[in-house]
Amino acid sequence: MASYDEVGVGDSVLLNEISTPAFVENIRIRFNNGRIYTYIGEVCVSVNPYTTVKLYGNDYVQQYKGREIFERPPHIFAIADASYKAMKRRGRDSCIVISGESGSGKTEASKIIMRYIAAVTNVAGQSEIERVKDVLLQSNAVLEAFGNAKTNRNDNSSRFGKYMDINFDFKGDPIGGHIENYLLEKSRVVLQQKGERNFHSFYQLLAGASDSELSKLKLKRDVSKYHFINQGGSPRVDSISDKSDYRTVSSAFKVQGFSTDTIDAIWRTVAAILHLGNVEFKHDGESTSIKNKDAIRNIAELLRVEEEQLVKSLVGRVIAARGEVMEKNHTQTEAEYARDAFAKAIYERLFSTIVSNVNTAIQVKEEEQSSRYRYMTVIGVLDIYGFEVFDRNSFEQFCINYCNEKLQQLFIELVLKQEQEEYQREGIEWQRIEYFNNQIICDLVEQNHQGIIAILDEGCLNVGKVTDEMCLEAMENKLKGHNHFTTRKLSPSDKELKHVEEFRIKHYAGDVIYSIKGFLEKNKDTLFQDFKRLMYSSKDPVISGMWPEGATSITATTKRPLTAGTLFKNSMISLVKTLASKEPYYVRCIKPNEQKSPVIFDAERVTHQVNYLGLVENVRVRRAGFAHRQPYDRFLRRYKMISQYTWPNFHGGSDMQGTKILLEEQNFSNDVMYGKTKVFIRSPQTLFALEEGRARL
Ligand code: ATP
Ligand code: MG
Repeated sequence: MASYDEVGVGDSVLLNEISTPAFVENIRIRFNNGRIYTYIGEVCVSVNPYTTVKLYGNDYVQQYKGREIFERPPHIFAIADASYKAMKRRGRDSCIVISGESGSGKTEASKIIMRYIAAVTNVAGQSEIERVKDVLLQSNAVLEAFGNAKTNRNDNSSRFGKYMDINFDFKGDPIGGHIENYLLEKSRVVLQQKGERNFHSFYQLLAGASDSELSKLKLKRDVSKYHFINQGGSPRVDSISDKSDYRTVSSAFKVQGFSTDTIDAIWRTVAAILHLGNVEFKHDGESTSIKNKDAIRNIAELLRVEEEQLVKSLVGRVIAARGEVMEKNHTQTEAEYARDAFAKAIYERLFSTIVSNVNTAIQVKEEEQSSRYRYMTVIGVLDIYGFEVFDRNSFEQFCINYCNEKLQQLFIELVLKQEQEEYQREGIEWQRIEYFNNQIICDLVEQNHQGIIAILDEGCLNVGKVTDEMCLEAMENKLKGHNHFTTRKLSPSDKELKHVEEFRIKHYAGDVIYSIKGFLEKNKDTLFQDFKRLMYSSKDPVISGMWPEGATSITATTKRPLTAGTLFKNSMISLVKTLASKEPYYVRCIKPNEQKSPVIFDAERVTHQVNYLGLVENVRVRRAGFAHRQPYDRFLRRYKMISQYTWPNFHGGSDMQGTKILLEEQNFSNDVMYGKTKVFIRSPQTLFALEEGRARL
């Protein structure tokens, strides 16, 4: 809309030409002029400014509070406010889905939204609500310390997906929340690429803990001493102060109500993983043994487990066959594999425990539940990994990209559904819009028996006998002829598929070639029972409590645990269900360049993102319908001065009649439709003309 000082076009629906280049050029012009936000109707496109922008102060909060999206220049605050209004005025649960690739600004966006909500609620300051807000805001520091890491794409990359519900009482004040976390990238605990780091927590501990704390943990301050955290060769990051972050996390722990014992157990566990990374094995013909006993002693002490048991579970395992219990030695490679699996599992459990402790801190108090539960509403904020394509793509990328398929499907469905439902409700004649339904790709991955996850699961039933390659063969047999799945065997002339172990999925966002190597193992996600029992035997109740299944005896037959793929699939299905039950708002984040520069706009990279986020398609959908709609009363209030029949006041009937008379007089009748409560304006030009008419007066 042209009612404010604009650069480029604030709402891409108003572009003269709808094409990818025109869309990209518009956001380029805006980015170069400090306008990082652009709308597609009610979808907010956000370009990472890579510099501190003065857009989030109280002055801005006041400008957006309670206003309508189109009234002010595009801003993420307007989206936050719209979802808040949906909740407060109409009692609707809403959710804000933030998507985009690594480094595009999703996590920052989610924090900006949370701060906005904190700023517009309960300004009078009621102590309990202040506490809840504080706990909600500070939960980020804890989660980022343990779930984020420096990658080559982003110094503070979230290595887990996060969905957070914020609960409100009937007055619209926050009274609590809940966090759901998805698939932590635990392989990072034992392995980092060049230029990357492990999770921040390890470096924070070494940099921030006092000398005496470190000596209690048997640690030296020197990062290079620990194999698990020095593989990337970049322990220091300019934009990060591990030392002060340690202090921030420590105080956030306290705000979250973590007990001293819990905090102590958390850091001891982190330290134990560092020592575990230094455990080395040797094989002397007969059996495998541990080279460095010091590390073992330290780990046992830190985890409060028996040293002997720890050694046993590292160098071998106990198996029960036909009621008999036997000990089986590991080869050196097996021992190394088991050690790494152990380290990853400990960290993953630690992370889940931290999330559940945060949840305890932010959960709605019981007394609130009983008195206000009936009126409680929710705003959900989703900050989840974007579509990923690397040189080599494995199980993790497969899961992440499947997640994006699910969200894309929801996006298309909801955005279209919302539109179409509104036309129906308003009694507007409407032709259904066709769109690419990526359900077929979701099915490819998730269908029972036929889908890729089901085929992997089948392979996992017989690990040891079934190899990754055999699994790929099974996929080839079952998925032959599927338009979105190819392998070299299914398409021999395909030059892109170079290796026999590769397969390609034609995702909605583009083609991705995955290497099947390691899929089975990652899907099965085995951790020997021995480790579970060991951890359960810990004398530290916090640690022991993380491993309840360690209580089962060796001979007891236990149900096969669900595979990583199936667990992820189930969590995605339930996430989509949660989101679909709410009124959705979208923030689509874009990364302007690879250099983290505030002045470079790499049009090629941006075009790529615009394509796979389906933004231009989004504009078209929005345009095929009606670019703008407004309730009659609001329309009349805004434009009545244009017409002598309606200015200064319209006395001839309803707001709808006034709107009709105004638009007819201005010769716009052909471009508009009259719904039951709103006027629908098809082309942006009409709106421009109306706005200009307003501005002339
Ligand atoms: P990942 O998927 O890797 O977690 P992300 O999309 O969450 O990435 P962020 O961590 O939010 O990306 O952003 C990366 C960096 O970009 C931030 O650390 C910050 O330096 C900068 N940045 C992002 N958004 C903004 C903003 N609105 N204002 C200033 N800087 C920003
Ligand atoms: Mg992030």
